[in-house]
Amino acid sequence: ILKIRNLVKCFGNREILKSISFDVSHGDVICIIGASGSGKSTLLRCINLLETPTSGEIIHDERNIVEEYDRLTLYRTKVGMVFQQFNLFNNLTVLENCMVGLVKVLKQDKQTAKQTAIKFLEKVGMAAYINAKPHQLSGGQKQRVAIARALAIQPQVLLMDEPTSALDTQMVGEVLAVMRELAKEGLTMLIVTHEIAFAREVASRIIYVEDGVIVEDSTPDVIFNHPNDPRTKAFLSRVS
Ligand code: ATP
Ligand code: MG
Repeated sequence: ILKIRNLVKCFGNREILKSISFDVSHGDVICIIGASGSGKSTLLRCINLLETPTSGEIIHDERNIVEEYDRLTLYRTKVGMVFQQFNLFNNLTVLENCMVGLVKVLKQDKQTAKQTAIKFLEKVGMAAYINAKPHQLSGGQKQRVAIARALAIQPQVLLMDEPTSALDTQMVGEVLAVMRELAKEGLTMLIVTHEIAFAREVASRIIYVEDGVIVEDSTPDVIFNHPNDPRTKAFLSRVS
């Protein structure tokens, strides 16, 4: 679905991403792990064009999206994003949050959008809260709504940036359960996470990033049981 080629991102004269390349194929569940400040969020933000890459290519549908800004809105319907801080619209209800993209971007009529939104809210166990405002929800509930909102657009890939790290521990499990279910259904996901046990269990591939470089891109078995790079081993022994 995506081909990332030699992606570089600089902030000022600091090179934060240094020639990142990898592919995302249908059904991949890729977990990106690495220390704080290694560039994981910057990578996801570049892939969604929330940051403009300094150089390199992001190929989607045979086109380099970095050079085709007129296709950005369409691209963002194909590549959804879930944020650490949920990014819900606080003045809208749960239902309206999930409908707004369908109506404004996909131009669905309100009735169709409502049905679609409810279907995905049911999927994440939040259909009982359609009239609630975000401030009435727990963090775990907000994140499940944010996931439903992203899924409702029916993206080809879902990007998630530490979807559980703003949550209290008792709510982490309910969000991971939704993500596990989506993985089982074959949704293609690219997940930045500090939940190492989750990554090991759910990922089809794990990408270890250090200082803006992909040190290792492999299966969980290789990463955890016989990593090819000593830096991967050192990181894992620090975090687990
Ligand atoms: P964490 O695990 O803490 O979320 P991360 O791997 O997501 O870390 P990034 O947020 O991508 O790391 O940041 C990588 C580096 O880029 C950091 O040194 C950060 O200070 C820098 N950085 C990120 N965004 C900007 C920006 N908008 N302007 C300048 N520097 C930035
Ligand atoms: Mg980050």
